[in-house]
This record gives sequence, C-alpha cells and structure tokens, in this order.
Amino acid sequence: MQKEINGLHQLEVLKVRHWTSSTFSFSCVRPDNFRFRSGEFVMIGLSIANKPVLRAYSIASPNWHEEFEFYSIKVKDGPLTSKLQQMREGDYILFRNKPVGTLVNDALLKGRRLFLFSTGTGIAPFTSIIRDPETYEKFDEVILFQTCRFINELEFGKYTVETIFKDELLSEIVADKLKYFPTTTREPSQYFGRVTDWLKSKRFLEQFGTDLNSTEDRAMICGSIEMLNEFKEICLEKGLKEGSNSSPGQFVIEKAFVD
Ligand SMILES: Cc1cc2nc3c(=O)[nH]c(=O)nc-3n(C[C@H](O)[C@H](O)[C@H](O)COP(=O)(O)OP(=O)(O)OC[C@H]3O[C@@H](n4cnc5c(N)ncnc54)[C@H](O)[C@@H]3O)c2cc1C
Repeated sequence: MQKEINGLHQLEVLKVRHWTSSTFSFSCVRPDNFRFRSGEFVMIGLSIANKPVLRAYSIASPNWHEEFEFYSIKVKDGPLTSKLQQMREGDYILFRNKPVGTLVNDALLKGRRLFLFSTGTGIAPFTSIIRDPETYEKFDEVILFQTCRFINELEFGKYTVETIFKDELLSEIVADKLKYFPTTTREPSQYFGRVTDWLKSKRFLEQFGTDLNSTEDRAMICGSIEMLNEFKEICLEKGLKEGSNSSPGQFVIEKAFVD
C-alpha cells in the first residue's frame, strides 16, 4: 500500500540485495501512475529522527518495468546511506514524484553508436537506458562501460546485462546491439585501465573503429566530477556538442554524486 505525507510518498521495499561491503540494490513497489523517462533520477530517502533525509537517486530500472529499482553506495557515516543500508523487505522509503535528468534519449541527437561511460554507482541510469527498447530504435550499437577499482564492484552491472540476454523479449530487441565493457583500474582484469586513457591512446580506436566522432557517435557520461570533467574535455575536443533536454546534442553528462 502507498501512503502520502507532505508531498512525499511512502513506498514499500520489496527486495534488498547487497553486492559488496560498499554497494547494494533494492526495489520497491512502483508508485501509482508514476511516469518517467529511462535514465532520470528522483529524490528518495528515509524519515530519520522525524525528519525526511532525501538524496538524488537514479532509477536503475527502465520506464516500462513494474520493478522500481535503485542501486546504492554505502557511505560510512553518510546521513542517508548509513541507515538505508540496514533496510529490509517490508520497510518503507520516502519518494518525491518528480523525475528529472539529462541522461535521457531525448537529450541526444540520433546517431549510429551510443557510448555509455560510467564509474561506480554511475551505472544506475544506464541499467535503465539499456533496458529501454527506445534506445535500440535510436542507435544501432549501444556500448556500456562501467569502471570500478576492483572486479567484485562490477557485479551489479554484470548481473543486469546477463538478465537482459536471458529475457525472451529484451534479448531479441538487444540482439547483437548491446556490448558491455566492465573495466577495472586497480585489480587486473580483461579490460584494464581508465577509459579516458583508452581514448587518449589508440586503444579505443583499435577496439571500436572510432575514437568518438560527432557524425556517428553519441555519449552519456555519469560519474564523479573529475571523471565528468575529463570526459567532457575529450568530447569537446572531438567536436561533440553537449546536449540538454531543451537542446539535444551529441553528449550528455550527470554527476553520480555531489562532493
Ligand atoms: C543526480 C544524482 C544522482 C545520484 N544517483 C545516485 C545513485 O543512483 N546511487 C547512489 O548510490 N548515489 C547516487 N547519488 C548520490 C546520492 O544522492 C547520495 O549522495 C548518496 O546516497 C549518499 O548519501 P549519504 O547521505 O549517505 O551521504 P552524502 O552526505 O550524500 O555523501 C557523503 C559523501 O559520500 C560520497 N558519495 C556520495 N554518493 C556517492 C556515490 N554514489 N558514489 C561514491 N561516492 C559517493 C561523496 O564524497 C559525498 O560527499 C546521486 C547524486 C546525484 C547528484
């Protein structure tokens, strides 16, 4: 059942899964009549000492899905996540019904390839985008990157991509269009190194036959402020124009958290 107090809805938690000591995901009852565009974020939180503590969270599930999912960091002593991580099935979270954001298909011009660059929990809006059929109507190839320090931090993204290929309908829509590149920066793995370094060297070009060009390539970027600045500089250097909801372009960025 969904209750509303002071413009905030209470949503029942249906499932909680801890991925690592610093990340977890959870799903809630989808709010009644709630519409959003895949890739958007909302304010969610908890009532702590009788006060609402709300934070921005990307919706990790796509807009058509009845599952309403989030992927979260656990910040030690973080006002919200130190409590949120203790949540269990049957508990309630607070939710404000006002989805916003720039990591949406509408903010990009049509193109051939869509690159999704993320670090850490910055993958959350992209697990929404890669499960939206509209993405595959707009782009011939969708290439998802998640960069973490260690291999175990990549599990949520890996699991989500695997569920797509196991899903009867989605696997047909996605077919050979979706490519997934889990990369690490500390622990050696199949794809090692920072993607910005791949772009600055020949590695990206060798792998994809492009090193981002404004005619065919589009990019969505979600991560720390340093990561966004570095990618933004590269995109601008390559001649890509930043897009927004009111003026679609060739790349869009959004912070995965505020420092
Ligand atoms: C547009 C937007 C979308 C966001 N979406 C998500 C999301 O989908 N999942 C999510 O976990 N967080 C997301 N965040 C961050 C989120 O709003 C909170 O900051 C986070 O939940 C921690 O809350 P807190 O109260 O525990 O700590 P806060 O006081 O909010 O943060 C304390 C410090 O922890 C660090 N931190 C916070 N969030 C993260 C993070 N995600 N990754 C790494 N370090 C972090 C920062 O250094 C920050 O200064 C988003 C932020 C923005 C601006």
